[in-house]
Amino acid sequence: MNGNGDTNDLHADRLESVILELDEDGMIQFISEIARDLFSVDVQSMLNENIGNYTTFNRVPLSASLNTDISETSLLSFKSANSALKTMKGSITIFFDFNGNAAEAQGLFVLQSFIWIVSNHHTGLSMSKNLCIPSSLYRTTGFSIDLFNSYLQDMNTFTAPPPPQELCRICERFIRTWWFIRHHWFCSVEHKIEGRISMLREQLVESKMRIQNRRYAAKISSPLAKSSLMPHPQNPFQLLLYRSDLALSVDTYEIRASVEVENGDYNANALQLLNKIHDLDSALDSDIQPAWKQLNALIDELVLYTTRFIKFLLYRKLLAVEIETQVYVAIDNTIKQNEEVIMSDDECKDITPKLQVTNSGYASPLMSQIPQPPLSPSHQHSQSSLKRTTSNRSIRSQRSMRSMRSASSCFDNDILPLPSIADYQLVRLLNRGSYGKVYLARKRLTGDLFAVKVLKKRTMVQRNQVLNVKHERRVLMTTASSPYVATLHYSFQSQDFLYLVLEFVEGGDVSSLLRKVGCLNEEWALRYFCEIVVAVDSVHEHNILHRDLKPENLLIDKFGHLKLSDFGLSMQIGEPGKFENRVRGTPDYLAPETLKNQFLDRKADWWSVGCILFEFLYGYPPFNDSTPALIFSHILNCEIAWPDLPPELDISADIKNLITGLLNLNRGLRLGSKDIKAHNLFRQVDWSTLFQQTALYIPPPINDSLTPTKELADEPVIEPDADLVFSRSFDSPTRSQRLSSSSIDDDSSSEFGHFSYRNLPVLEKANTEVIHKINSITPDLSPSPSSPRSPTR
Ligand code: ADP
Ligand code: MG
Repeated sequence: MNGNGDTNDLHADRLESVILELDEDGMIQFISEIARDLFSVDVQSMLNENIGNYTTFNRVPLSASLNTDISETSLLSFKSANSALKTMKGSITIFFDFNGNAAEAQGLFVLQSFIWIVSNHHTGLSMSKNLCIPSSLYRTTGFSIDLFNSYLQDMNTFTAPPPPQELCRICERFIRTWWFIRHHWFCSVEHKIEGRISMLREQLVESKMRIQNRRYAAKISSPLAKSSLMPHPQNPFQLLLYRSDLALSVDTYEIRASVEVENGDYNANALQLLNKIHDLDSALDSDIQPAWKQLNALIDELVLYTTRFIKFLLYRKLLAVEIETQVYVAIDNTIKQNEEVIMSDDECKDITPKLQVTNSGYASPLMSQIPQPPLSPSHQHSQSSLKRTTSNRSIRSQRSMRSMRSASSCFDNDILPLPSIADYQLVRLLNRGSYGKVYLARKRLTGDLFAVKVLKKRTMVQRNQVLNVKHERRVLMTTASSPYVATLHYSFQSQDFLYLVLEFVEGGDVSSLLRKVGCLNEEWALRYFCEIVVAVDSVHEHNILHRDLKPENLLIDKFGHLKLSDFGLSMQIGEPGKFENRVRGTPDYLAPETLKNQFLDRKADWWSVGCILFEFLYGYPPFNDSTPALIFSHILNCEIAWPDLPPELDISADIKNLITGLLNLNRGLRLGSKDIKAHNLFRQVDWSTLFQQTALYIPPPINDSLTPTKELADEPVIEPDADLVFSRSFDSPTRSQRLSSSSIDDDSSSEFGHFSYRNLPVLEKANTEVIHKINSITPDLSPSPSSPRSPTR
């Protein structure tokens, strides 16, 4: 949130909502950036203002969804709604004008704050006339009442049939279809906050390390957190380190698990820790060094986001429990009616439920007769308002209770699974890289194919590659939505290995192609060249130098277009480049300034692109020789190995001119992106549509990849690694196995830091497709935009 990816276009699916956090006086503590689009408000200027200044309550009466004592008209302001929320358990739904736009909000009191989720549309209250459904359910934004209704209508037995559900691609849980739309929104916001937290953690670790190194040089070997000693209160530096270690010890997976278990009475370690970190700030001298101040500000931001994360999770959890209870009640009502129909109808000809209006939700007189759902201890807290009775419910078997419990639950399982290599079935080895192997793997849950790059931690440490792999992952995260780069979908780690789960680019790398075909004709070579230019340009736009461009690192997708991969040597433009220890594989394509350890700019990549073009056309790189020393010498003297060919067999003078323009020792004279595009050869090229054009070569479809190869299927061990062996057994790991295998992930002191990543935009897109499907198969009773004045895109 806070503008980080909040703007993805989900509006078409009416999912956009604003998170509004108010303190106990109604002052705005936080409001999502998206409010700017939905309600035309100036988000920044609203902070610490009273919400009352932006809202009017003269449109529609308010409605309390839970509490029977609250009269609707008594809630004609946020102030009155907030004070009602404080005295009750559960949510309130209100309708109002927000900066002149129709709005609906559902609020809960969470950890001394009022959290309101505000939408610019109204739920379809008027549609639901003949349902056996509590009115508060169809007042819950994003609850697909029509789907739920047809589920109830199909129910003609005493037990609840298996509920329809869809896989949420973000959290990888099966979600009841009627709750999917709102779940998707909750899930993506939750993961956005978590993504922000993990970014802040990384910055914090790095900033702390920099300060520590500078101050102590080699004096201090172990961080304070490990010793868990209290710092000396007079020493601001120790206090600062202690504070940052405390902040780093707060873990989102733990928070998530404890919110699931503890429910609304959340009072876990994390919260106490956050308070402690907060209090420590005042112990720090205000005139500490600027670098320390920066570190301290990072800690503050981390604390802020983590607290917001907890509040958001609690909101989500409390609401889910509320929904589950109401769904349970509606199913129970329906089954009860079915029983009554059967008992009153001797002939038992028609057991179709005759549904009734139950328009008052929890206030329903029916409700007091309904037994308490047999929920887990974590749910019982919210159920305490329901009275269990022992009236004529003897028909109700344990089985029926269980099925009702299962159908009413929002999810299939409560705990978010942790990523692990066991989630994948390895199909075959795609290639060996310099530091690890790349496997074709199938994700068990979805059946999707990926290329999984597996790197052994010990090797990375021994070969001084820790920073490189961290950097590779960060660059892949930066370019996560680029069509020109093999997309990173997930990353995670185990005790011994790092895993990068990448888009599987089916056609393999260009180096393998060249081995098969020798060299490319001019048309083909130039087409690839142009695609490389566009792709490299796009990476440069992110201020990233690839520094290892070569045919091995160019992949061919199934349509025959190229994608860049392997950012293990890449660096930020402007960062001092270090060449030692960084060369992997062949040095053939390295620019002279890289070898000389000089300042690098974009031109270094364009040199490599020149070498690649040469190789496309002649089948060998321009400075090739038998030893790296000879190759270096050829590069530094620009001794290009032009073949001795008669002109009729050789490449055109124009292309030679392009190659020499790129392989120029003088960086100032070397061609760059603009010069290339202006070259004679490319006058006809439409650079913007290159990747939409039909490719000259389309790789054969993969057909041998669907079952594991003999090597992987039969051999008991493919790597001396428990993880990989484990991944080949069919069963999923138990939760405790996952937790123990992932515990390293949350160990911020591990050299590789917090390595977990999910490519949220890709997963959101997959969920949006599910939502389109849900919307297309159901009649449109779901929420619809209510205000023509609301901005649309
Ligand atoms: P290294 O950093 O060790 O060079 P790479 O990332 O270049 O590792 O991967 C090594 C090889 O694995 C590549 O040359 C290519 O053949 C194959 N490979 C890598 N990523 C993918 C992918 N996403 N899809 C298909 N093949 C891939
Ligand atoms: Mg490579």
